[in-house]
Amino acid sequence: MLYDVVIVGGGPGGLSAALALGRARKRVLLCDSGPRRNAAAEHIHNFVTRDGTPPGEFRQIGRRQLEGYPSVEARDVRVESISGTRGAFRVELTSETVDARRVLLCTGMIDELLPIEGFRELWGQSIFQCPYCHGWEVKDRRWGYLARAADASHLLPFALMARGWTRDVVVFTSGAFDVPQETRDRLEAAGIRFETAPVTRLVAREGRLEAVELSNGTTVPCEVLYAHPPQRQVDLVRALGVALDDDGYVRVDAMKRETSIPGIYAAGDLTTRMQAAIAAASMGTQTAAMINVELTMELVSSGAL
Ligand SMILES: Cc1cc2nc3c(=O)[nH]c(=O)nc-3n(C[C@H](O)[C@H](O)[C@H](O)COP(=O)(O)OP(=O)(O)OC[C@H]3O[C@@H](n4cnc5c(N)ncnc54)[C@H](O)[C@@H]3O)c2cc1C
Repeated sequence: MLYDVVIVGGGPGGLSAALALGRARKRVLLCDSGPRRNAAAEHIHNFVTRDGTPPGEFRQIGRRQLEGYPSVEARDVRVESISGTRGAFRVELTSETVDARRVLLCTGMIDELLPIEGFRELWGQSIFQCPYCHGWEVKDRRWGYLARAADASHLLPFALMARGWTRDVVVFTSGAFDVPQETRDRLEAAGIRFETAPVTRLVAREGRLEAVELSNGTTVPCEVLYAHPPQRQVDLVRALGVALDDDGYVRVDAMKRETSIPGIYAAGDLTTRMQAAIAAASMGTQTAAMINVELTMELVSSGAL
């Protein structure tokens, strides 16, 4: 079967791209193997018209709306490999191999959860990456920011911004990096406290964080933690060998969103640190439009249009 576009990944990025391409009457295969990145979260927030929707329901609505477009097929299947060149890609699924003129990667990122006791269980429940997504619901509570060395450059704005949601903010550095005295002074002037001893355990009751235990024996009361665990690309993207930036995100050109491999595009979390469902959806829509322009111009050059 020859598709105009095979989309890999059925999160907000892939679903939005499939919608735009379906409306443009392009023959599309959307493949999603799961699990989704926000699987641990109870609700999606900060997505206009969908604020507070459970992530599973969000995807069901997206899939249901695609059913109205007969040229779009959505399947729960994993893409194992991609070979070939622009205009003639071979896309190997778990069950069969299909052909595609273009491929759009919307595979998200994998979060490498921190090896701290309690972290995995609390991820998405009391530990979040973004206060816009999960800040309002826990405003005025005891917040902590579990900063890693990689967070050093945005420690100051992130911690100061957290004060907009609550007066009670503690930064945990686990001694992983030195905080310049000037940064410390600015944060302490805003009432933000510091704990530099390594975090050894997260104490929870009935699935909710209560305190952070440190190696020096201190227990710091804390109800919500923000953390940015390291992320990696999924195996498929790594195997493809598309160029990545210094932070490990797929490089795309700003307008077309094409990767370093001609004919392969990328949209959503895998291309940026600025990760949010609505941002991924927007990138999916933009990329779909660019792919549609290219496919149309190809028809013009071949004389078919
Ligand atoms: C705990 C948590 C809570 C969050 N809460 C919010 C929130 O409230 N609001 C908000 O805006 N954002 C939130 N986010 C961020 C949001 O989930 C992401 O920004 C968004 O899901 C990115 O969409 P995406 O389409 O790029 O990727 P994803 O949603 O990650 O979708 C990628 C999909 O690709 C699939 N896939 C990967 N490889 C393959 C393959 N080889 N074959 C087939 N399928 C494959 C994956 O299984 C996955 O389903 C949260 C994130 C986390 C971790």
